[in-house]
Amino acid sequence: MAERAVDVVVIGAGIIGLGIAWTAARSGRTVTVLDPAPATGATYAAAGMLAPVSELHYQEEDLLELTLASAALYPAFVESLGVAAADAGYRTTRTITVGADAADRRSLADLREAQLRHGLAVEPLTIRAARAHEPLLSPQLSSAFNTPQDHQVDPRLLAHRLESAIGQAAAANHWTHDAFLRQNAAGLVHENPADASSRVVGVTLADGSTVTAGEVIVANGLAAARLGGLPDWLALPLRPVYGEILRLRVPEHLRPLLTATIRGLVRGLPVYLVPRSDGTVVLGATQREDGSAAVSAGGVHQLLRDAQVLVPAVAELELIEVTARARPGTPDNAPLLGRVARGPGRAAGDIPGLVIATGFFRHGVLLTPIAAEHCLHLLDGTADARWARFLPDRFSAHPVPAAQPEGVRP
Ligand SMILES: Cc1cc2nc3c(=O)[nH]c(=O)nc-3n(C[C@H](O)[C@H](O)[C@H](O)COP(=O)(O)OP(=O)(O)OC[C@H]3O[C@@H](n4cnc5c(N)ncnc54)[C@H](O)[C@@H]3O)c2cc1C
Repeated sequence: MAERAVDVVVIGAGIIGLGIAWTAARSGRTVTVLDPAPATGATYAAAGMLAPVSELHYQEEDLLELTLASAALYPAFVESLGVAAADAGYRTTRTITVGADAADRRSLADLREAQLRHGLAVEPLTIRAARAHEPLLSPQLSSAFNTPQDHQVDPRLLAHRLESAIGQAAAANHWTHDAFLRQNAAGLVHENPADASSRVVGVTLADGSTVTAGEVIVANGLAAARLGGLPDWLALPLRPVYGEILRLRVPEHLRPLLTATIRGLVRGLPVYLVPRSDGTVVLGATQREDGSAAVSAGGVHQLLRDAQVLVPAVAELELIEVTARARPGTPDNAPLLGRVARGPGRAAGDIPGLVIATGFFRHGVLLTPIAAEHCLHLLDGTADARWARFLPDRFSAHPVPAAQPEGVRP
């Protein structure tokens, strides 16, 4: 068996875990990533819109600084992979937002007011001007706005490149351990097994074996709260927010269907079309909290119906994939990102060796570079204080003082 002692173990090989693992590997650390099925969770579904401006939501303004910071990191993050941006699926194409009817126009005008208040660039377009950019947009639209700053990446391609880059780091640095173990993590290993606030020194796997590590990063999305060995007072209130999303192939005679990402409101319902360079289009996404992981026929119908209001030629595309996955939501729709306190008020410091990175909800692809950078800074002890507002224990009742015995979650 390969050596099982590393600097960093990352639990979960979704886009977040892979981004963190790659950034840790680049810093010269040895890394093992645990996941029985890498990049098959929310990452597999995501459209990959990098849209801090269009995604500004009422009462989520706290997130804006984080999403803008991450969008700004994207070019360097992609460049670090040593492939051309296009080969990582990163495209700096614009986003055009359109409304179908008069009420949609008013909603988008209100959104623009909020965007302008935050200093974001969104230009109104006439429908004629929008159609000059995108001739296959419907002439019947009520409004259009240009958002040059919102781009896109193909999350599946990016995840694949991240996996390859980690593999290459392993080969180049002659790692004697496995960079990837296709197993579920079962629980955290603590220095003092009876004290869940003691240093985390490794992870137990589903087969009962152990990987020891200087730092353990919990990045397994919705499953994070089910990990054994987390302090029993720590609440990680993750909820699945399911979404249907479709992939369609554009026939040769209609290419390119679009060059920009089109985000629309159709009778108040959001819908978007993201054109990929391989001649496919991603059409998404519904949002439901009914607990069903199955594809909803109603959801698929809604997406196809509304997309055709924006771009009638969608009816002529070949439907090649229908996917449903859950976004890892939190009560304030912001991530759970950082270290976990050992005791009340953080007076006793944080649990050494443990970082949580989950709850990225609708923005996990966009937030991958900043999550990776922040985790690296946490490992280095140079974390940016601005991101303390996303601490993973912010929804937890005060932990018992570290001096008292503390339960360990089974
Ligand atoms: C329909 C849809 C569209 C979206 N569109 C966008 C978008 O346009 N832009 C954007 O920024 N975001 C988008 N998102 C959100 C984005 O997909 C998520 O925020 C992001 O994928 C979260 O990444 P993650 O790595 O935390 O989780 P996941 O991708 O879910 O990965 C978690 C991983 O953990 C693994 N795992 C689980 N339990 C264990 C365990 N015990 N041990 C080891 N591994 C484990 C799983 O196998 C999985 O691979 C979208 C999401 C959906 C569903």
